[in-house]
Amino acid sequence: MNICVIGTGYVGLVSGVCFSEIGNKVTCVDIDENKINNLKEGIIPIYEPGLEELVVKNIEAKKLSFSTDLNTAMENAEIIFIAVGTPPKENGEADLRFVEAVATSIGKKLNNYKVIVTKSTVPVGTGKWIKGIIEKESGHNNFDVASNPEFLREGSAIFDTMNMERAVIGVESEKAKEWLTKLHEPFKTNIVISDIETAEMIKYAANAFLATKISFINEIANICELVGADVTKVAEGMGLDNRIGQAFLAAGIGYGGSCFPKDTNALINIAEKAGYNLKIVKDVEDVNKNQRFRIYDKVKEAFNSDLNGKKLAVLGLAFKPNTDDMRAAPSIDIIPKLQEEGALVLAYDPVAMKNAHKEIPNLQTVESYIEAVQDADAVIILTDWEEFKNLDLITLKGVVKQPVLIDGRNMFSLDDMEELGYYYASIGRKTVK
Ligand code: NAD
Repeated sequence: MNICVIGTGYVGLVSGVCFSEIGNKVTCVDIDENKINNLKEGIIPIYEPGLEELVVKNIEAKKLSFSTDLNTAMENAEIIFIAVGTPPKENGEADLRFVEAVATSIGKKLNNYKVIVTKSTVPVGTGKWIKGIIEKESGHNNFDVASNPEFLREGSAIFDTMNMERAVIGVESEKAKEWLTKLHEPFKTNIVISDIETAEMIKYAANAFLATKISFINEIANICELVGADVTKVAEGMGLDNRIGQAFLAAGIGYGGSCFPKDTNALINIAEKAGYNLKIVKDVEDVNKNQRFRIYDKVKEAFNSDLNGKKLAVLGLAFKPNTDDMRAAPSIDIIPKLQEEGALVLAYDPVAMKNAHKEIPNLQTVESYIEAVQDADAVIILTDWEEFKNLDLITLKGVVKQPVLIDGRNMFSLDDMEELGYYYASIGRKTVK
């Protein structure tokens, strides 16, 4: 099929590439000229494992191209995907500015039947709203709108798309249903067909549920610390029950990223507008906001509240491993708080340092974790990168000034840390002293 994807961020670029990989002809469009020029050369704007190879392969196979010219790109397209950002406004509501601009542009140019699909995460009712904009701009209704929300995870986005567990397709016509079902056939996945509003809601409900699991286990972790239980064992014991499942039960410093904080707040806002007080999700957000500061409390506790002049090595800046995405990363809040106390923070992240400098004003970074930990009074882990899981703790002890490890991701065993003679504070487990 002929596909046009508008917006070449994490979602648009990955979806576009994967649609070309399964045999479609895809043009990816963005207003960012620099990004498009780079992509034409096979230079990828984001860090995502496996993405570069697939982009280059499909450009060479002439199945994938990039453009800033929407008019030409959509001319032969049968299906147009809208995959632009929907960032949060101050009040938590999703900002539909970019979606509106794209819908207006599509409407101005639309002259034959196409299916226009929202892949961006948008509030319930947006599909119908887009339909109205396009009808007004084009002066006709020879098109269908649909919703096909995205569930990929940054860091494994290609794998997640090529092996998607389900595709949600919200439609209001047989033709749109037929075309979108056909497009997804090669993925050999479960297809959930619904009306547009339901599809839009599925995305928010799924993300709010995952966020709830994280905040739930973090609250359990906080109680574990008070009563002397170990949250990692609690999670294991809970997760082996199929009704609960193991996923998303790792206690830590809470969720970040461009989706969970934004989507939980947007859902709270959707509920409010509909006259409903979404209590659970409000608490989930509240718990998450506080959870990241527990690591700050633990660093202070290790030094009797005096961080002045202490050299702190922060390992990990991205909101999770395998991504350079810094949006709403816990490090953005934690590092300035440590600096305010007079600590000298030296940070290292395998790929997110460039983006981190844009988010954290007085950030000092170094090119390797070894440089960061040299003579450090404490090592603080904020992201569970594989590189940190494999830290040689004996060598580490030899290069730091004090063997103090504050672990926001529960990466090491308490027994090992005890044996090695570390002061080791983690989340939801006893502190080894
Ligand atoms: P992003 O910010 O990485 O990318 C958005 C892109 O859209 C940018 O390249 C921007 O230049 C482009 N753009 C903006 N206005 C445009 C216009 N008028 N014409 C063409 N291009 C335009 O965003 P993202 O992370 O890919 O997220 C996109 C949507 O997908 C959001 O609604 C998000 O909530 C949702 N989503 C994201 C993820 C994720 O993990 N990032 C997962 C599932 C769903």
